[in-house]
Amino acid sequence: MRHIAIVGSGPAGYYTAEAAAKLWGDDVRVDVFDTLPVPYGLIRTGVAPDHQSIKKVSMRYEKTALTDNVRFVGNVEVGKDVSVGDLQELYDAVIFATGAPHDRQLGLEGEDLGNVIGSAAFVGWYNGHPQFASLAPDLSGRHAVVVGMGNVALDVARILSKTEAEFAGSDIVSHALDALKGSNLETITILGRRGPHQIMMTPKELGELMHLERASPQVEKDDLPPEGDDAILEPGLRKSVTLLRDFAAIPESIHGETPITIGFDFFANPNAFLGDDGKVKAVEVERTTIEKGRAVGTGETYQIPADIVITCIGYRSSPIEGVPFDERAGRFANDEGRILPGLYCVGWAKRGPTGTIGTNRPDGYAVIDLVAEDIGNGSRKRGRDGFDELAEQRGLDIVTFRDWQKIEEAEAAAARDGSPREKFVDIESMIAARG
Ligand SMILES: Cc1cc2nc3c(=O)[nH]c(=O)nc-3n(C[C@H](O)[C@H](O)[C@H](O)COP(=O)(O)OP(=O)(O)OC[C@H]3O[C@@H](n4cnc5c(N)ncnc54)[C@H](O)[C@@H]3O)c2cc1C
Repeated sequence: MRHIAIVGSGPAGYYTAEAAAKLWGDDVRVDVFDTLPVPYGLIRTGVAPDHQSIKKVSMRYEKTALTDNVRFVGNVEVGKDVSVGDLQELYDAVIFATGAPHDRQLGLEGEDLGNVIGSAAFVGWYNGHPQFASLAPDLSGRHAVVVGMGNVALDVARILSKTEAEFAGSDIVSHALDALKGSNLETITILGRRGPHQIMMTPKELGELMHLERASPQVEKDDLPPEGDDAILEPGLRKSVTLLRDFAAIPESIHGETPITIGFDFFANPNAFLGDDGKVKAVEVERTTIEKGRAVGTGETYQIPADIVITCIGYRSSPIEGVPFDERAGRFANDEGRILPGLYCVGWAKRGPTGTIGTNRPDGYAVIDLVAEDIGNGSRKRGRDGFDELAEQRGLDIVTFRDWQKIEEAEAAAARDGSPREKFVDIESMIAARG
């Protein structure tokens, strides 16, 4: 018998559990731990609430969770409630699938001003992550700046733009919907250090900006390279750049008709956040030029008004005591998923915050191949029986998958008309809902 602990129940955690169950069948016991009483990581707390079809991937994880040899152990933070050493004594392999939950910092003057918010916090707020539910961003101003040109920036700009009616069918939490209803935004400026050919935005997400009820996207024609240059781009990026060309062709009169303009400011590197009374008021930006694919400052600066700033520039993993960490890369120090004997990592905790949900699947299968090479038939550790004893000694209140199903039922029962669920946004309410 092999005993495997997976720390984190997001996509990487569940693909890894799936791979272990497939490889070893009844000869493995897998425990999937999570700090939260609810599973699925960023599928619940990251993926946009108006992208419900993407969230359906959790049905695949549920299949794995419901198999006899895999169990969910929620409401347990590894590194606090139990140590890595505790788990290593009990399990043949401990695999970190803890994601990258912290915002990267720009390290700029004024970053600590009020209403300068990282995307982990802002996205967590509208998705009801207990850690960020009380964020209360101030949306009363007219100007928002979103820093970064990836899909998270697009999610944020779109969510800031939508009307209440456009959130029909989504599971945006009520506190965010109420706050967004009262927003007075007129401009959302998306800032990118480089140019249209260097965006990390995919066509589907970019295309959605064309269909917003009260907002229209704006690109300056002069920022676009000659059309013939698009031929060298890979097909996805070429499609995205074509969409930017479509945005540039939108007549000025259309922008006059929609209350919100979503402007793309390319070749623009934020230098500092400027404030008034502790709250952000503007972003100072330096114009850049591209040399060998890199943004280089030109010395020319200007200011953009900003009543709220959301930085969408990437994430870092959380170090855990006893586990080597690569500070520069912001993830566990690992060699293709191996950290130390018996310790592994997978998903964003291994690779950093790149790729789609599906990218975590081959990662999960690959780490199980490594574990199989290393642990053979297992070494008679005590696995989940030993963990249950430890949990009892420590008075841990474990949330099981059956408990989660009750929480899920209660969330579905509390949903607004047309919405799949009204999420509980604090841990106490989640735990109370299991009955
Ligand atoms: C805003 C946003 C939107 C996205 N939208 C899309 C999209 O539309 N389509 C797409 O394909 N991809 C999307 N992604 C990417 C996708 O979410 C990631 O690829 C994926 O979630 C990474 O999986 P993971 O399992 O490594 O990490 P996560 O999903 O972050 O899961 C990590 C889990 O570990 C738990 N955990 C952390 N520390 C501990 C600990 N010490 N003890 C116990 N548990 C712990 C966390 O609670 C969490 O549940 C999006 C990402 C973000 C940030």
